[in-house]
Amino acid sequence: MTTTIIGFPRIGAQRELKFATEKYFRQKITAEQLLQTGKELRKRHWQLLQNAGINQIPSNDFSFYDNLLDTAFLFHALPQEIATANLSALDKYFALARGYQGPAGDFKAWPMKKWFNTNYHYLVPQLTKTTKFYYDGGKIKDEFCEALRLGIKTRPTIIGPFTLLHLSEFVAGADADDFTADLLTAYTNLIQDLTAAGAEWLQIDEPALVYDLSATQIDWFNNFYQQLLAAKGPLKILLQTYFGDVRDIYSSLIKLDFDGIGLDLIEGKKNAALIQSGFPANKTLFAGVVNGKNIWRNHYQKTLTLLEQLSVANLTLTTSCSLLHIPYSVQTESFAPEIKQHFAFAQEKLTELTQLDQLYNHQQPDWLKQNQQLFAQPRVKEDPELKEKIAQLTAKDFVRQPAFQQRRQLQRKALNLPLLPTTTIGSFPQTKTIKKMRAAWRKQEISADQYRTFIQQQIKTWVKWQEDAGFDVLVHGEFERNDMVEYFGQHLDGYLFTKNGWVQSYGTRGVKPPIIWGDVVRKSPITVEWSTYAQSLTAKPVKGMLTGPVTILNWSFPREDISLKEATWQLALAIQAEVLDLEAHGIKIIQIDEAALREKLPLRKSDWNSEYLSWAIPAFRLVHSQVKPQTQIHTHMCYSEFGDIIPAIDEMDADVISFEASRSNLEILQQLQDQHFKTLVGPGVYDIHSPRVPTKEEIVAELHEILRKVPAENVWVNPDCGLKTRQEKETKASLLNLTAAARQVRREL
Ligand code: GLN
Ligand code: ZN
Repeated sequence: MTTTIIGFPRIGAQRELKFATEKYFRQKITAEQLLQTGKELRKRHWQLLQNAGINQIPSNDFSFYDNLLDTAFLFHALPQEIATANLSALDKYFALARGYQGPAGDFKAWPMKKWFNTNYHYLVPQLTKTTKFYYDGGKIKDEFCEALRLGIKTRPTIIGPFTLLHLSEFVAGADADDFTADLLTAYTNLIQDLTAAGAEWLQIDEPALVYDLSATQIDWFNNFYQQLLAAKGPLKILLQTYFGDVRDIYSSLIKLDFDGIGLDLIEGKKNAALIQSGFPANKTLFAGVVNGKNIWRNHYQKTLTLLEQLSVANLTLTTSCSLLHIPYSVQTESFAPEIKQHFAFAQEKLTELTQLDQLYNHQQPDWLKQNQQLFAQPRVKEDPELKEKIAQLTAKDFVRQPAFQQRRQLQRKALNLPLLPTTTIGSFPQTKTIKKMRAAWRKQEISADQYRTFIQQQIKTWVKWQEDAGFDVLVHGEFERNDMVEYFGQHLDGYLFTKNGWVQSYGTRGVKPPIIWGDVVRKSPITVEWSTYAQSLTAKPVKGMLTGPVTILNWSFPREDISLKEATWQLALAIQAEVLDLEAHGIKIIQIDEAALREKLPLRKSDWNSEYLSWAIPAFRLVHSQVKPQTQIHTHMCYSEFGDIIPAIDEMDADVISFEASRSNLEILQQLQDQHFKTLVGPGVYDIHSPRVPTKEEIVAELHEILRKVPAENVWVNPDCGLKTRQEKETKASLLNLTAAARQVRREL
């Protein structure tokens, strides 16, 4: 047996790539210096894998921004105006990644989307009739040769044509057929070029095979690969999949002339059974048994048993997906040894692979013993009271009384808001001063009292500002929180935080997901102090601001010893306690953000309900089911791509939902109308992701557009999302235009 991985995190142990790239963007370093940083990181990572004893080392998993962008760029699938612009290749690449405004022109970035069911974002290639794919050398070959010069013969990796087309957007009447022939030539030439350079293996990633596939898609795949593989010559091809199973196409995959097939045995529920139904003796199975998405140690005995049950002749051990989705190493974290021993980040997963390899060959039995001991003792003390509470939940715990329409009348009376009430999504700009004060308080340079007084001042200033600007429902501004998950985690039992556990989210941006270590219980009130302080300053209602259980779960590393459902319900009870506390302290409107609700929606539609929505939606209902009829519950989502789950969103049974709409041409409103959506809506009336200030007239026009689809008494007026990343000046200007626009449209009604 041998060992390999699908890909390694590229940002560097200390996020060197992020910092270098950002310096390059700010013109603090040259292109050569940035390229040099990339080169050093690649070398360091290849050697790390080599020293860890990994036998097959991938290359071209490195990227300056994103691998799908790399693939499109490699094959020259860029818009004409960028291809011909007076820019270096590197700057053309970055122009696609993040837009460009300067002497060479004004180019928009390609859009970004979440990569399958992860929080990583890829660039969406925009393919037009004139896009022409071709291969003439480039990054994939250069990096193979670079490693070869270091004495390491890598296995280059590339995203395959099926996934490339699946994830791209076809613009202006283009379709897959326009590109198939060119792609076949391009991939064939790539194969020949790598063969000539001395490569033995090529890894082609086709994760899109784990979606539900149509007969047409399967045909396309078969046709394409039959031709491509007929031309592969001596190069061995690994067809790599991840994030799920390949039930729709397995029978074809094993017939095609691949040399290796990579299957995810962690998330791919049906893969083991598929393999057992027959795996050809002349192919190698790349068995993805080490979880590339979560940070826990592998359970060796379970893995070894699974491997034996597969009974495949040629086996290579690998990760379930690229290690891109977990932090670099646990070495630099300061957890106590009893805790640390339970974690394996990217670097530690390498050791797990080589240990499993040897154990499978009946060597080093001590490793197995140690691993068994680790799992033998209970890792955490479970909370019997919490367990009991969850076991005792009955239908009525998930149902708010009275029903929506009745509460609506009561809330109308209680809140007495005008038509088209105005509000914001929660956060106001997190200025440098705020971040500095928080850092000073953490380092104990200022006292807790000083910090509290400072935050209160911010709240006071902004409450007054909102009143003057004419907002109907105010917010306190979220100055106390750095982030919508970490802040909550810090007030919950059961959470752990890393110091350096960065995971790439997109481009140079990383997130540091906290770890759910044990049972989650609310330790103490989380936001009550801030919300009640804000409410004490004004007669207008102040909206309490919470993160919902599904989002907290989806942006944390979850436990593996209890189900996601159970973990989410624990979180739901914790947030429920906070909701009731806010209500008891006089907060009349409470917003529970579910910005990441869609993230773990299964990739296969047939699993949406049974595997996810059937517990995720009840988790949200559990949070607010016990409030008084007069208390108004809001929720917020950072996207409007829920046209396909509208009934589920309505079943959350919130009173009001705000969502991103300004960039999606308000298409969603028609869908909501068609499906008789009951929840009141606040479609974002301007895009907060840009510093641009919308004019009053634009917002008026947007509101007219909304009112064509939704009756005025169902509409709220608010921006797209929170304003924490914006500057104060543009924020105030935009919001003044928003309230002025609402006033004008109200007068017209
Ligand atoms: N209430 C949060 C804020 O305003 C919501 C953020 C989000 O949706 N991502 O910042
Ligand atoms: Zn948002």
